[in-house]
Amino acid sequence: MRWFPIFLDLRNRRVVVVGGGGIAERKIDLLLEAKPNLTVIAPSLTARLRARVDAGEITHEPREFQATDLDGARLVLAATDAPLVNRAVAEAAEVRGIPANIVDNAELSTGILPAIVDRSPLIIAIGTEGSAPALARYVRARIEALLDESLGALAGFLARWRARIKTAVTDLDTRRRLYDRLIHGEVADLIKRAREPEADEALAALLANTGKEGSTPGVVQIVGAGPGDPGLLTLNALRALQGADVVLHDRLVSPEILRLIRREAEVIEVGKSAGRHSVTQDEIHALLLAHATRGRRVVRLKGGDPFVFGRGGEEAEFLKSHQIAFEIVPGVTAALACGAYAGIPLTHREHSASLRLLTAHSAAAIDAVDWQGLSDQRETLAIYMAVATLERLQRELMARGRSKDTPIAFIENGSRPNQRVVLGTLASAHRVANEHRVQSPALLIVGSVTSLAPQLHWFGSAPR
Ligand code: SAH
Repeated sequence: MRWFPIFLDLRNRRVVVVGGGGIAERKIDLLLEAKPNLTVIAPSLTARLRARVDAGEITHEPREFQATDLDGARLVLAATDAPLVNRAVAEAAEVRGIPANIVDNAELSTGILPAIVDRSPLIIAIGTEGSAPALARYVRARIEALLDESLGALAGFLARWRARIKTAVTDLDTRRRLYDRLIHGEVADLIKRAREPEADEALAALLANTGKEGSTPGVVQIVGAGPGDPGLLTLNALRALQGADVVLHDRLVSPEILRLIRREAEVIEVGKSAGRHSVTQDEIHALLLAHATRGRRVVRLKGGDPFVFGRGGEEAEFLKSHQIAFEIVPGVTAALACGAYAGIPLTHREHSASLRLLTAHSAAAIDAVDWQGLSDQRETLAIYMAVATLERLQRELMARGRSKDTPIAFIENGSRPNQRVVLGTLASAHRVANEHRVQSPALLIVGSVTSLAPQLHWFGSAPR
């Protein structure tokens, strides 16, 4: 970060704008929102600026700029097309220690005006360090669309209550949870519907109950993080990550997603990774229980979907047996993501009429599979954790009547920037996986739908 963002109080402070053309006009529109004591230095003005002078909103000095114009100023903007004048403004500001914004000249500037989303008193300032104003405008448009107009009213409401909340709820964690409830819950809804008196009552009631907060049990959200691309998170998953006190995550969860966790949250990896000590399922249960009974919001974050080969079911059973409240947030499971990102439709009228999700991580898992039911050529198989047991898988499927020429695909790191798709046949699967050193996480898809990948691939490198 080279430019430090800060909000300036300009009310009744001297602000100088040098230049009286169209650009100055737009900057002045913006600056006047902050009610400064604004002086424009320029030989001539646009008609609109002239009208503002006549209305007494700004002062005009009809002449060239001189350094002493900046005496006592808090901020100066130069919006002229004369490079020498711009430079003189920058120098005079530098000498006096005043932030100067020279329009379209980040080199000469010591301050940059951000793109602004205004829901006063909630203000969002967006900057690109002067590198790409168009990008800042794009982000602003996205945020504008995201934030409804009532947010300003909500911010005002919270400001009004702030001191009382602070006195009533002294514990920081409890106060943060209260604010979360305010922002997401009934109180915010009332503000949205312009029912401020009722919002006051609702908040007063909440505050009355918060005294007993220490006894409030925590909650565990078992959240699917999807296959890796953060764009595949659900909105509920994102909200859970941003409201968490503690996150227990698997190794499979991508770093881009971990970056979305609330900064103050404690983040604990409980993934099983080869070689290192892995946390056992019982230890994970104990951690969930310990954090939840302390009244914290616990997120148990898993790759893909928590109820598809994710042991989410066992964790839910455990929590249920200990009377801990839980929620399940589904995620995009690897089969769906890998199919989509590899251009392999999992069902297709000409190729496949059904889909089966299987796992084959160990001999025991393989023994548990109903091989008898797997001979249907028109059924797509999505096999999780298949790499370790490939030879046996191959043999069993062929022995039960799957053609040795059945096309297959390995999708490694599906939906991630380093995604690879490797194609083969059932007979060659093991050899192909070795040749290309296919590594975890990888999904094996068996079925003629995989033959569509060369034609439909659209993400990452072409299938091999
Ligand atoms: N609950 C997860 C599955 C966990 S089992 C889900 O719903 O996706 C772990 C296995 O999932 C991996 O061995 C691999 O077979 C598969 N997998 C998970 N993420 C993957 C990814 N990004 N690309 C390919 N396979 C993936």
